[in-house]
Parts: sequence; C-alpha cells; structure tokens
Amino acid sequence: MATLQTPQDTIEILQKYNFSIRKKFGQNFLIDMHVLDKIIDAADISPDDFVLEIGPGLGAMTQRLCEKARQVYAVEIDKMLIPVLGETLAGYDNYILVNEDVLKLDLNEIVKKHNQGRPIKVVANLPYYVTTPIIMSLFEEKIPLKSITVMVQSEVAHRMQAKEGTKDYGALSLAVAYYADPYIAANVPRNCFIPRPNVDSAVITLTCHEDKPVKVSDEKLMFKLIRAAFNQRRKTLVNAVANFEELNYTKDEVAAALTSLGLDVNVRGEALSLKEFAGLAGALTI
Ligand code: SAM
Repeated sequence: MATLQTPQDTIEILQKYNFSIRKKFGQNFLIDMHVLDKIIDAADISPDDFVLEIGPGLGAMTQRLCEKARQVYAVEIDKMLIPVLGETLAGYDNYILVNEDVLKLDLNEIVKKHNQGRPIKVVANLPYYVTTPIIMSLFEEKIPLKSITVMVQSEVAHRMQAKEGTKDYGALSLAVAYYADPYIAANVPRNCFIPRPNVDSAVITLTCHEDKPVKVSDEKLMFKLIRAAFNQRRKTLVNAVANFEELNYTKDEVAAALTSLGLDVNVRGEALSLKEFAGLAGALTI
C-alpha cells in the first residue's frame, strides 16, 4: 500500500498513474501533512464515527480517516482516481468508495443504511467550484450531522462566520448561523497544494446545533427573505423584498412588519441578525 506521508509520495503516485490533474473537478491535492493532521484534529473523529469524505482525491486524508473512524464513506467524482484510491487504501477495510457526484446522492438514505440514521461527520478538502452548493445541500436536505470540517477558500470561511453589519456578512453567514457554530481551525497557504491554487484556504469546523438558535415557523420564508435581502444588498430591505420575484409582499406590508419588530423602515438586510430575520418571517406570516 502506498502511504501518502510526504509531498514526494504524492508526486510519485501522480507519476505512477500518469495522472493529469483536472481543473474542472477543482483538484488541488493537499501535500502538507501538518495541515492534514490539523483537519483530522479539528474533525475530532472517534472510533464510533461514520465519516462522509467528499472528494478523497489520492486518498491522503482518507488514510488518516480510516485509522480513526469506524467507517469512511468516500465519494469521488473522477473515475480516473478510483484505481489510485484502490492502491492507497489497500491497507484498510473500513471504507466504502463510491464514484459519483456527491450532489447526486441520496445522503439521507446512505446515513440510514450505514449509520442507522444517527448523525455523521463530514470531512473534506472541498473543490472550490462547488463549495457553497455542497454545504447548503447538506443543511437543506436535513442530513443528520454532528459536524462538517472542511477546507475552503479563506474568503468563504470568513463569510461563513461573519456577523451582521460586516462586509463579509451574507446569506451563507446566516445559513451557517442557523444550522451550526462555525470555528476557523487553521489558515492554510496556497503552497500546501499541488497544483497551487490562486487563493489561500482555511479549515473551518461547523458544529451542528442540536436545537436551532432561533424559532421560526416558516423556515423557507425566512431563507427567501434572506436571499431577497442579499440579492440587492445596497437596497433597503423594504425595496429588496417587494422587488423579489419569489415573494409577494408590498412595500407597506414589509414596512409594517419591520415597524412591529421595532426596526427602522429604511434598514438594509445586511444590518439584521438571524433572530431579526426569523422575527420578520414571523411578522409576515401573521
Ligand atoms: N481530498 C483530496 C486532498 O485533500 O488532497 C482532494 C481534494 S481536491 C480539492 C477535491 C476533490 O473532490 C477532487 O478529488 C475532485 O475530483 C473531487 N470532486 C470534485 N467535485 C466533486 C463532486 N461533485 N463530488 C465528489 N467529488 C468531487
């Protein structure tokens, strides 16, 4: 079995399989073993854990996950990597490797089948081109989750943990706040990857809430209001919501709802906290 312990190991395996890196799949392989250790530490894997790894690549992180977890379910979109993973994971028997696009899988079904529906941990060095859709679908599909520990672009990690009134605050910050507690565990420079990406990265852990931090009767409405607010973030919230094609509220109705919550009618969405968006959804449902 080829263990991936040094940058040289990665180069050798790429050469052995004459592997051409595919940009369209966001392939940047991690070659810094200290960073791999940091991801594994941040994910806090215990021997009972069922771990979903999205995009195992050459298997450097998968090897470490297999050593710590009960079972690793690794989903890789690139069929050219399957024989490579066959070699790098040959020493382990506690993994399932699936050649698929993770966004096409029924993850609820997989969690039911392999973990009796109990919450799982997700660990990944995510492809940059599809980071937000993957995170959002894990949340929106209501997959039972303990935590998500992922390498993402540094800028995206900062957006995930941004607070209201800051420039990074947006729909992603609010979704993360609703579902989880974010914590940036490491900043990772671009020279830790082959090939080297154009941006720096960060490892972020999202520890999923057992109980949501706000009560909201119509979750879908709240997220539509959030999308409306940040679609046109320079507009007042009244205008942004009244103009948003997926919603059917007049300016007067939105203004009245804001007033009932003690908020200024000229406020912009970027100033509202998660609790205030939940309140607005409640006021517009009445
Ligand atoms: N985990 C490896 C590492 O840390 O070196 C590879 C990380 S690389 C940034 C992203 C990996 O995700 C690649 O192996 C890529 O082929 C795979 N990938 C890209 N899009 C995917 C998708 N939609 N579903 C599953 N895997 C995907």
